[in-house]
Amino acid sequence: VGAIEVAKKETKAEVDDSYEGVWVYIEHVDGEPLEVSFELLSKAKELAKDLNTYVGGVLIGDKIKSKANEVFAYGADKLYLVQGSEYKNYNTKLYTHAMDNIIKTYKPEIVLFGATNNGRDLAARVAVRLRTGLTADCTKITIDKEKRLLEQTRPAFGGNIMATILCPIGRPQMATVRPKVMKKDKPDYAKQGEIIEVNLEDKPQELRTRIIDIIQHTTQTVNLEDAEIIVSGGRGLSEPEGFKLIEELAVAIGGAVGASRATVDAGWIPHHHQVGQTGKTVAPKLYIACGISGAIQHMAGMQTSDVIIAINKDPDAPIFDIATYGIVGDLYEVVPALIKEFNNY
Ligand code: FAD
Repeated sequence: VGAIEVAKKETKAEVDDSYEGVWVYIEHVDGEPLEVSFELLSKAKELAKDLNTYVGGVLIGDKIKSKANEVFAYGADKLYLVQGSEYKNYNTKLYTHAMDNIIKTYKPEIVLFGATNNGRDLAARVAVRLRTGLTADCTKITIDKEKRLLEQTRPAFGGNIMATILCPIGRPQMATVRPKVMKKDKPDYAKQGEIIEVNLEDKPQELRTRIIDIIQHTTQTVNLEDAEIIVSGGRGLSEPEGFKLIEELAVAIGGAVGASRATVDAGWIPHHHQVGQTGKTVAPKLYIACGISGAIQHMAGMQTSDVIIAINKDPDAPIFDIATYGIVGDLYEVVPALIKEFNNY
């Protein structure tokens, strides 16, 4: 806290105060904006109110103008739109060029990106081009109204402390924020906004990468990030086959399958199922943790779930500290009993 105060005091005079507005990069897949973009717009609205400024959205894609209404509904006052067939799918070089140019022209004070694979890739490159700072993977964002500083909080030192990071001099202040961390407001479809169509010149011609094919995950259960119910398995399963039981319970109650890192590292299940600090952040209505001890790095990714049920044979397992309901017992007895009960329901 002391260091934060010193940083704030020392740097106020050097800031370029011609920068204005809180922007969100609207990431989309196949022209459909990701939920995290709406979560960030809701947050941006709050920050913009504190700073007495506007909310901007940046949408880069092909024939994507029809999404403007949604972007306005979630809080944007202005939409910066870059369109063209070359922007249909994310491309690091093209999108970096676009963001870099728009930011240099319109000078936003803050820019937020989703901490997705593409959001992380883009934000880092744009920050380097702009010679400004970037805080990756934030789990909390607040503002010091008076000094107009974005207070960007993220886990550090293996999740053992929460660090608040400031970008006192560089502008814009930039952060990536994990999906599902910010709450999405209800959309207001009556809200209008201004569309600023941006035509870019000197687009990069030689692209080092191109998309050959997009392979979708095929799974019997629903996508982890969108799931309202998640059943997760940990090392307590003892063997990879244990995930068949987890999947059976997930299917019985219409949920998705999650996992602890221990099981991912052991090669029992692919990484895209991992919940936690180095996996996904989730906030479902119901999270069932089976044979998971409750390490701080796991809890960082699921502790905001509405209801948490923990099944563990060790009554002292830390997961019980945050569980709404705890079942002390062998998961190989408890989970089949739950499946039987739900299938008869
Ligand atoms: P354990 O800690 O081994 O727990 C297994 C539990 O199963 C025990 O509590 C045991 O009592 C119980 N059990 C055993 N048999 C049974 C049974 N038959 N029935 C019921 N209960 C049973 N971890 C993550 O999960 N996600 C992350 O994103 C993540 N990121 C990390 C990042 C860093 C930088 C570091 C250092 C670590 C990270 N970890 C992460 C690892 C984390 O510290 C733990 O090692 C991991 O979460 C442990 O997984 P687990 O709970 O499955 O295994």
